[in-house]
Amino acid sequence: MPVGTVGSVKAVPQDVLEELDAQIILGNTYHLYLRPGHELIRSLGGLHKFISWDRAMLTDSGGFQVFSLGDLRKVSEEGVSFRSHLNGTSHFFTPERSMEIQIALGADIVMAFDECTEHPADRSRVRDSMELTLRWAGRSKDYFEAHKHEVPWTPESHPLRKNRAKDGAPADSSAPTQALFGIVQGGMYADLRRESAERTVEMDFPGYAIGGLSVGEPREQTFEMIAAVLEILPKDKPRYVMGVGYPDEIVRYAGMGVDMMDCVLPTRAARHGLLFTSEGRINIKGARYAQDQGPADAQCRCKVCARYSRAYLRHLFVAGEPLAAVLNTVHNLAYYLDTMRAVRHAISLGDNSGFLSGGARPERL
Ligand SMILES: [Zn+2]
Repeated sequence: MPVGTVGSVKAVPQDVLEELDAQIILGNTYHLYLRPGHELIRSLGGLHKFISWDRAMLTDSGGFQVFSLGDLRKVSEEGVSFRSHLNGTSHFFTPERSMEIQIALGADIVMAFDECTEHPADRSRVRDSMELTLRWAGRSKDYFEAHKHEVPWTPESHPLRKNRAKDGAPADSSAPTQALFGIVQGGMYADLRRESAERTVEMDFPGYAIGGLSVGEPREQTFEMIAAVLEILPKDKPRYVMGVGYPDEIVRYAGMGVDMMDCVLPTRAARHGLLFTSEGRINIKGARYAQDQGPADAQCRCKVCARYSRAYLRHLFVAGEPLAAVLNTVHNLAYYLDTMRAVRHAISLGDNSGFLSGGARPERL
C-alpha cells in the first residue's frame, strides 16, 4: 500500500496511482485530524470523495504517529495526550476518539488504537504495554460497533461500488462497510507476541495487523516476530504487517503468508534520490550518472523508464526541480507494485520459480 499521509501520496496525482494499478492507499489519521480536520472531511463526504479516489483506502489509528512524537506525548490508561508537531497545540487521543475520527474519514479499513512499544524495552514494560493495547482494542471495538453507521457515505453511494460498476465487475449485493482490524504488539518477545495474537484473535476482528516492528530492531528479529505471530493469526483473514519494508523483505514476508504491507520507503526514498531497481538501489545524484543515457532500470516498463534517462533524472534532482520527486516516486512505486504483482503471480503458480523463497524476481510478466 502506497502511503498517502495527508490524503496525498506525495508527488503523485491520483490518476497516475490508478495507472500504476495501486489498488489501495493509506491515509494517516493523526495528520488528517490536525489538518484539514476530520469533521471537514466528513462534511465533504469522506476521504474517498475529498481526494477523488474510488478505490480502497485504509487509515491507521494515529497511535504510531503519536508514538513517534517522543517527548511531545504522554500515555495514560485513558489515552495519549500530545502536542501537535505543526503548532504545539494540545490534543488527546483515546481509542474512542481514534475510532470517531476514522469513522468520519470513512476509509474501508480502519485500525484499532494501540500503543507502539518503544525499542528496546524490558519484558515487564513490554507486557504492560501489550496489556494496554489489548484493553484499547476492546474499547476500539466497542465504540466502532456502536458508531459504525456514522460513516460519511451510504452503502449505495460508497465510492467502491461506483468503481466496481465502472470496471464492469458483477454487482455486489453486500453493503460496503468499514472493517476494523486488531493490532498485535508484544515488542521483541516471541511469547508475548503469541499471547497478544491469541488474545486479539479471541476478540474476533475481520483482519489482523502486526504492529511495533521496524522500530530499530535487526531485520532477523523482525522476521522472527512475524513468524511467531503468523502461527496464531487465522489464515483466512487478511494479515497485515505495518511499516515494512525493502523490496526483498516484502517478498520474503509475502512468502511467509503476509497479505498486506505499507511503507513510506518507496516514496520517501524517491524524494531523496534513491531509486529501487532490478539491480539494487541506486543514488541518482551520483556523478557517475551525469552522462548515463540509460533508464533508471532497464527491466522496468514504467513511463519514467520508458522516456527519461538517468542523466536527466540526476540533473532534475541536483537542480532541485519538483519534477525530480514526481518521476523518482512514480518509478519507485512502479517497482514496488511490480514486485507485488510478481509475488501474486508466483503464488498463483505455486512458486515454481523459487521467487518467494529468495530467488530472483522473474522478468516482468
Ligand atoms: Zn521505472
